[in-house]
Amino acid sequence: MTQARFRVGNLELLVMSDGSFYLDAGAVFGVVPRERWEPYAGPIDNHHRLALGTNCVALRSQGKAILIETGVGEKSMRKDATPLEEGSLLTELEAGFGRPENIDVVMNSHLHGDHCGWNTRYVDGKLVPTFPNAEYLIQRAEWEAATHPNERTRATYLAENLTPVAESGRLRLLDGETKVTDEVTIVPTVGHSEGHASVVITSGGEMAIYIGDMVQQAVQLERTAWVAAFDVLPLMSMEAKKRLVEKAIQEKALLICVHLSFPGAGHMTRTPDGYKKWVPA
Ligand SMILES: [Zn+2]
Repeated sequence: MTQARFRVGNLELLVMSDGSFYLDAGAVFGVVPRERWEPYAGPIDNHHRLALGTNCVALRSQGKAILIETGVGEKSMRKDATPLEEGSLLTELEAGFGRPENIDVVMNSHLHGDHCGWNTRYVDGKLVPTFPNAEYLIQRAEWEAATHPNERTRATYLAENLTPVAESGRLRLLDGETKVTDEVTIVPTVGHSEGHASVVITSGGEMAIYIGDMVQQAVQLERTAWVAAFDVLPLMSMEAKKRLVEKAIQEKALLICVHLSFPGAGHMTRTPDGYKKWVPA
């Protein structure tokens, strides 16, 4: 099992892995020269790739069982993704939290294939929502981008993760900031994709923020301008990250990052000389 538990006020957050996969290091660091980022990056393999985690979160809030992010899944993306370490979110979820039919709310930070893979699965040869009783919450802008992909985005916006959810009637499209419970709020953080969103969790004066794909390596939290090559709106991505990191420092929030190595949790702090510093939990 690859699981970790964190407490935020009265809430317990269960972080689970759906395994890790390799991605080109240049795609992660964009225009930043390799000589600059290499000292801060994780190990690179002989194909110039970094290992990326897939950290997903389950929690209960005000009677709702909530799942944030659904990983790579078991369909085409996992077959293409050159897995480094096998994992199964569904196995983790059943062992540590509950059965798929007992999940009330599913949310994806965005709809790239490594974030919503377990939204659907094959049962008796038919593609169905994995969480049959859940409401799936997605920003409308993200749904539009995902269902009208262009030449650049079509490799990651996969109909197999989307269509069965829409057809089941379990999709709820959101227009901006949305409260799921009094303790859980979805907040747009656009840039990585057209409708990317983060999740702010508050309880007992404490805060956690699930920041989705705003960064893939911790150093990108410390260096404001270091955004990934695959962000479709890189300057918006940078601004969203700047706001969120400031909020995290002020609130002493626990940040959970999907692609950092498991469990991808930590705090942003400021050093005495004013630099932003990531401290793993
Ligand atoms: Zn991703």
